[in-house]
Amino acid sequence: MGREGGGGLLRDPFGRPVNSLRISVTQRCNFECFFCHREGELNPHGELSAEEIVELVEVASALGMRKVKLTGGEPLIRRDIVEIVSGIAPHVDEVSMTTNGSLLGKFAQDLHEAGLRRANISLHSLDPETFRRITGRDMLNEVVEGVEAAIESGLEPVKLNMVVLRGLNDGEIPRMIEFSKEHGAILQLIEFQPVQAGTGPYWESLHHDLRDIEEMLKARSQRVRVRELQRRRQYYLKGGGVVEIVRPMHNTEFCRYCTRLRVTSDGRLKPCLMRNDNLVDVAPLLRRGGGGDALVEAFKEAVSRREPYWRD
Ligand code: SAM
Ligand code: SF4
Repeated sequence: MGREGGGGLLRDPFGRPVNSLRISVTQRCNFECFFCHREGELNPHGELSAEEIVELVEVASALGMRKVKLTGGEPLIRRDIVEIVSGIAPHVDEVSMTTNGSLLGKFAQDLHEAGLRRANISLHSLDPETFRRITGRDMLNEVVEGVEAAIESGLEPVKLNMVVLRGLNDGEIPRMIEFSKEHGAILQLIEFQPVQAGTGPYWESLHHDLRDIEEMLKARSQRVRVRELQRRRQYYLKGGGVVEIVRPMHNTEFCRYCTRLRVTSDGRLKPCLMRNDNLVDVAPLLRRGGGGDALVEAFKEAVSRREPYWRD
C-alpha cells in the first residue's frame, strides 16, 4: 500500500459508506450503442494516464475504497489497459471491468494474469440483426467468443449485462437466461436509464420497468440473495441459472445502499451517475505530481457531495 490513509471507510452526509470506485478509463468506443449513457460523462477533456489512474487508486484504497471497476467508453480500446490493471491490482482487493466484449478474445488471458478478477460483458441480444440495431456493429460472434474467452481465462464471475428494451430485446430474456446458464455466467438485467444519449423521444417507448420481470423471477426462484451494493437482488432459478436485477429508476432503496464513487475519464471525481453539477476535478493535482494530501482532501470533498438521487 505504501500510503497513509484517512482511517476507515469514508461516509457521506447520508451515512452511506464508500467502498468502491468506478473508473471510466476512456470515452472512446468501437461500438455505437444508441442508448449509451457514457457513464453520465459530459464533454471529456483528455484521458488520465495509466500512472495517474494508479495514483488515484492508491489514495482511494488508503481511504477504504478497496474495489475498483474499470469502464468507459470501451476500456479495451486503451492500448495500456493491461498495464492499468496490473498497476491497480496490488492496491485493492478486487479489480473488475465492464466491457462490450468484442476485444476480450484477444485480452482475457493477459487481463486475468495482470490481476483482473471479474468481468461484466454487455450482451444485449443473441439475434444478429437486433445486436446490430443496438450496437451499430455486426460483431455478435466476436462478443460471444469474448464471453467464452473470459470464462476460459478464469475470470469469475462473468456477468452478462443486458439493457432491457421494450419491444426490441425483452422477448429474448428466456433465451438469455439459457445462454447464461449454459456458459456458467450470471445474467444481469439492467433498466434502461434516461441519461444523455439515453434521453430522447424513444426513452418512454423503449423503457421496460423491470418489476414485472422481478415478479416472474421470484416465482421461479429457489433462493433470492440481496447484495450489499444498491440492495440488488440475485435470483437463483429452480432449473439452474442466476439472474441479477439492476433497477435504479425511482428506487430509493437502490440509492440508499449505493456505496460507490465514480471517476470520469478526464479525472473528475463524480458522486452520482445522474448528475454533473457536483464533480471534483483532480486532474490538475495528478498532473502536478504527488497529489498526496490534496488528493485525500479531494476524495473527502467528493464524498461529502454525495446525495441519494432517488429518495423519499
Ligand atoms: N463499453 C462497455 C460496455 O458497453 O459494457 C462499458 C461502458 S458502458 C457505458 C457500461 C454499462 O452501461 C454497459 O453494460 C451498458 O450496456 C450500460 N448502459 C449504457 N447506456 C445505458 C443506459 N442508457 N441505461 C442503462 N444502462 C446503460
Ligand atoms: Fe460503447 Fe459501451 Fe456505450 Fe455501447 S454502451 S457505445 S459499447 S461505451
